[in-house]
Amino acid sequence: MAHVIEHASTGRAKCRGCGTRIDKDELRFGERRPNAFGQGEMTLWFHLPCAAYKRPEPFREMLDGVAAGETSADELQAAQALRPAAELGLARRRVPRLDKVDRAPTGRGRCRHCRELIDKDGWRIGLVFFEEHRFQPSGFIHAACAEAYFETTDVLDRIRHFNPELGEAELEAIRAALQPGGDAD
Ligand SMILES: [Zn+2]
Ligand SMILES: [Zn+2]
Repeated sequence: MAHVIEHASTGRAKCRGCGTRIDKDELRFGERRPNAFGQGEMTLWFHLPCAAYKRPEPFREMLDGVAAGETSADELQAAQALRPAAELGLARRRVPRLDKVDRAPTGRGRCRHCRELIDKDGWRIGLVFFEEHRFQPSGFIHAACAEAYFETTDVLDRIRHFNPELGEAELEAIRAALQPGGDAD
């Protein structure tokens, strides 16, 4: 089953990775899967970065499989630029679960990694698991547990991508909080 990369012919599809619309003419990645409900295939559409971050395996298959001629040079270049993001997600298998980052609204939630409570207003990282063709919300971890859980703290680019509402000051605070023991305040 060949995955595809193409310019969106309409602006109707929503990205499975971030839930927002893929604009007409924007580059998109189509993950082909056996149809869940019967015969044939279905296509799951993603923005290119969303696919590289959250579906690294099919994204890399696409990179390795595209034949010259069926994909234009600009498409290939845009996709190849995202290869390191996909490779990180393949080397560190939990990294593609990273989703929304915010301050805990209560002090009652537990960290999926260390099982301790997450302080109210402490930075937390939301996790999603890919199941049944979609991403299911699957709890949170302390920002400070990122290194132990993901085996890397090299995740700020994806935090920025999946949380476009965060400002630079907040991203700076998250960068500090990602260090082990860093979310004390
Ligand atoms: Zn997206
Ligand atoms: Zn924790």
